[in-house]
Amino acid sequence: MSTATLEQSETLTGKPALTDRLGRGVGYLRLSLTPACTMRCTYCRPGVIDHLPTDQTMSPTTIERLVRHLAERWGLRKVRLTGGEPTVRRDLIEIVERIAGIEGIDDLAMTTNGLTLPKQAHELARAGLRRVNVSLDSLQPKTFARMTGVKGPGRVIDGIEAAIEAGLSPVRLNAVILAGENEEEIPDLVRFAAERDVEIRFIELMPMGPLVDQWAQRFVSAEAMRRRLEPITRRWIDLEQGHDSARRHRLLLDNGRMVTVGFITPMSCNFCAACNRVRITAAGDVYPCLMDKPRGNIASALAECFDPDGLDAILSESLIHKAAEHPVTGFTQMTILGG
Ligand code: SAM
Repeated sequence: MSTATLEQSETLTGKPALTDRLGRGVGYLRLSLTPACTMRCTYCRPGVIDHLPTDQTMSPTTIERLVRHLAERWGLRKVRLTGGEPTVRRDLIEIVERIAGIEGIDDLAMTTNGLTLPKQAHELARAGLRRVNVSLDSLQPKTFARMTGVKGPGRVIDGIEAAIEAGLSPVRLNAVILAGENEEEIPDLVRFAAERDVEIRFIELMPMGPLVDQWAQRFVSAEAMRRRLEPITRRWIDLEQGHDSARRHRLLLDNGRMVTVGFITPMSCNFCAACNRVRITAAGDVYPCLMDKPRGNIASALAECFDPDGLDAILSESLIHKAAEHPVTGFTQMTILGG
């Protein structure tokens, strides 16, 4: 092992943690299953991104090998499947089953646009998926279509309801807020979440993808979002943040309902100091930070003749680059990585 990145700090499992050079334990793997997506969100995708060729995509067996290694050797507990759109993968159920069967993985989540959940939620829950974050930027058909490039939001709402019914828990909603587009909908989105007893998170626009040049005009800060909630809020209680990327609050609304609202604030207030995640794509690229470039590729180390020490060396080298704080301009990577 070439560096101090694989230090021997202890995880809750008693295993040594995979730790970056600043001592931030890496206990959370975000795995992008494909760069392909079924939506064309204005703030995310520069255009059609196709499926990776099969021979460049980690198979369910390879994914299981990776996660098992990280769980057994480094005490990884938490995996989130993302994309692109993870439900584009035809072998998604097998991937979920294989990861869910690994001892030590006690939190298996997915971030999705929700379009397939009306059909897939129960099967995913049976396969071992615990929880799901569903993107829902607007309740207005015109705004939804403008923002995502697809008709909606009926199918996504059906998907959210199917996920709740299937027992995926918690179900959380994500909404990216754009000035002049959906900012006025914040109170309606909060009421929608409160009626279903699910949490909602509002995400500050990051300067990447197609809106990179209009970022300053389209950005809405968490503070401005919060102000839009004042007229409908009777009581506001701050919750603890921990490793969570969201600043979360419990709100008592004017209609007597309680709801948890989070703000994901990569721009106005980053959460890098508590960041415990590493991102790996379907092609095996390792991103120590969403806003970094790939710092290594683990595909060859995970091939048939599995090389666990080689894999650790690549992860270790990649983690050296995990910055104390992410840069706030000039990044484009999230179009394929997901959040
Ligand atoms: N396809 C899935 C989905 O729609 O949730 C997972 C991938 S998507 C890239 C993950 C999250 O990143 C979504 O909640 C999306 O809204 C958010 N996102 C994408 N581009 C963003 C940007 N420029 N700024 C802030 N959030 C962004």
